[in-house]
Amino acid sequence: MQDKDDLLAKLNPVQREAARHGENPLLLIAGAGTGKTTTLVHRVAYQIASGISPSRIMLLTFTRRAAQQMVERLRRISGDDLDISGIWAGTFHATSVRLLRIFGEAIGVPARFTMHDRSDSEDLLDSLLNKLKKDVDGELTLPRKGTALSMHSFQVNSQLPLEEVLDQFYPDYSECLHELQGLFDRYQKQKRQVGIVDYDDLLLLMRDLLRHPEVGVRIGQRFERVLVDEYQDTNSLQAQVLMALCPTGKGLTAVGDDAQSIYSFRAATVRNILDFPEQFLNTTLLKLEQNYRGTQPLLDVSNALMSTAKEGFTKSLWSDRTGGFRAQLISCVDESQQAEMIVERILRHRKEGIPLASQAVLFRAAYHSLALETELNREKLPYVKFGGLKFAESAHVKDLLAFLRLAENTKDTVAAIRILLLIPGIGPKKAGQCVDMLQVTSTGLSIWNQVKPPSSASLLWKSFVHLMTELESDRPKSLKQQLEAVMNFYGPLLEDRYDNAPLRKRDLEQLISMADRFESRQQMLVDLTIDPPSSTEDVEADRKRKEPPLVLSTIHSAKGLEWPVVFVMSAAAGMLPMPKAAETLEGYEEERRLLYVAMTRAADWLYVSYPQPRYDFRGGWSNATVGGMTEYITPPMAKMFQRQHADCLSEIERIDSSSASLPQAGPSKRASPMRKSSSKKSKTNSE
Ligand code: ATP
Ligand code: MG
Repeated sequence: MQDKDDLLAKLNPVQREAARHGENPLLLIAGAGTGKTTTLVHRVAYQIASGISPSRIMLLTFTRRAAQQMVERLRRISGDDLDISGIWAGTFHATSVRLLRIFGEAIGVPARFTMHDRSDSEDLLDSLLNKLKKDVDGELTLPRKGTALSMHSFQVNSQLPLEEVLDQFYPDYSECLHELQGLFDRYQKQKRQVGIVDYDDLLLLMRDLLRHPEVGVRIGQRFERVLVDEYQDTNSLQAQVLMALCPTGKGLTAVGDDAQSIYSFRAATVRNILDFPEQFLNTTLLKLEQNYRGTQPLLDVSNALMSTAKEGFTKSLWSDRTGGFRAQLISCVDESQQAEMIVERILRHRKEGIPLASQAVLFRAAYHSLALETELNREKLPYVKFGGLKFAESAHVKDLLAFLRLAENTKDTVAAIRILLLIPGIGPKKAGQCVDMLQVTSTGLSIWNQVKPPSSASLLWKSFVHLMTELESDRPKSLKQQLEAVMNFYGPLLEDRYDNAPLRKRDLEQLISMADRFESRQQMLVDLTIDPPSSTEDVEADRKRKEPPLVLSTIHSAKGLEWPVVFVMSAAAGMLPMPKAAETLEGYEEERRLLYVAMTRAADWLYVSYPQPRYDFRGGWSNATVGGMTEYITPPMAKMFQRQHADCLSEIERIDSSSASLPQAGPSKRASPMRKSSSKKSKTNSE
């Protein structure tokens, strides 16, 4: 067995100090690429080597991919000597599910709860909203379902009073305060009654569970160490969860970078970082200063970007890799030329030995990559896309899962309506009647044998009820067999209903092939809702691929990751910032931080590109133009790049170490993370 200090041999002194820090609360604040996640992972390894059982360590992070990556890194550091199995590593939401499965009954969450995703939640809220609209009889203008759900979600996550949320963000609906409060109360009550949990509930329930006088204390005692990455993007509710889990801060570690906070639309608040030392007494605050990811020429442009931020971030990243390739700023005629340029550069890098998987193209909104995807398909280059519409959100996947959801929880009316409406001849009225029958019966789905379907649907109805009662029964059938049975029934309906039926069927076959990964039907349903595979490629990840694919990602989904070659495409007016997100000053500043997050993903080559201005026809003729270099790149900053036009690209300039400028701000100049906070937030998620 190696000495536990050997585990930390590669760390710098401050990182090592953080990794070896005892059980008092620790806050590690540092810029992009300074090794925050690296330190966190080493700290976990060190703690395990010091004798703490992995099953008593909880590692919380922001995305499923980030959690997986951390565990992989931990495994690599630990080698064969340390057993890390049993560690609780995951997102806050996934961890909540895990806790609820074990302890949920204590706060009234049935073991067989089912999950609603956003569109299911909208549907349920809509049914209550329609009743309310009848009651107010046109005297008030109520929000639409999507807006109402956003309000509610923001209120839950920010833990602000509804009145304040309306006044600040939805002043048009301030006069409906009373009605909306009633609506949201009924909505919560209905979900609890029928055993349904949605995304936001997971945090609320986790907090309530941890505050439970008996169970909460037991859970708190079980976890000796709780470590949180990307702390700048947690919200008030997540802070409350941590307070409940570690009331004194004993065993708690948080790491973050206030300059990378990009999730205010989910009510994330940088106040969590700022207030940490006051919330948890005896906090040790450590700062990391050296960036190990990018070369200095690339860091210079990122520093220049943040130096124009309105909120006073003064930290500068520096690296001892002082030489390297200059960052590229490339103007393109239009989006097609931008796509061609990117593909051409990707191929060239590949030829020079950088595999596709070590290159990434980042963009502000998922639809920005369409022209590029066309070009990649033409070149037959494999790619995987993260962010944007998730696999499990597509209509056909949701249909298939709705059968299982209803079998799991017969009170899940949203799932019931969804599948009833798939059956030809059954309309909303009939579906409503069928659902009402379920609410009052204790016999479950077999009650539908009593339904008189329209004559055109009678045969189909019989096989439908047979299928559902079989799925509902406890007769042992593997998850795969259950899915296949649903597919037999649903396949022909899918063909009649959707375009692209063969492609959609392929998706569903992939889903069925994943079934063995899950312990139970409930686990599959919950996992696919809270951590949906980001793409169909993700689902196929197990399949052998000839060449690991290029990465396409929204900036939000690229958080915490790094690649040798990074393209930040469409850094253009009307695209970054997204006009809607930039309506408030806070939103505008958050968009700047998004660009910063994107640029700081690059290790060796960075390309920032934009198309020339064009009229934007979407939404009718208007004067709005889209394109032209984003205003975040000021003229002095633009000069730091090598500027080129896609028409005639020349070789990338190389700055050698000896002639490189010294780091703009060395360690001593790095300022504290404190900054002014302001009350206005942007809550637009245009990802
Ligand atoms: P981000 O802000 O993007 O989340 P981070 O601060 O979490 O970044 P890491 O991802 O941990 O940074 O590290 C960035 C890169 O620097 C990684 O490639 C990591 O292996 C490397 N690195 C971190 N610490 C050291 C070190 N002490 N020596 C050499 N390389 C290091
Ligand atoms: Mg990180």
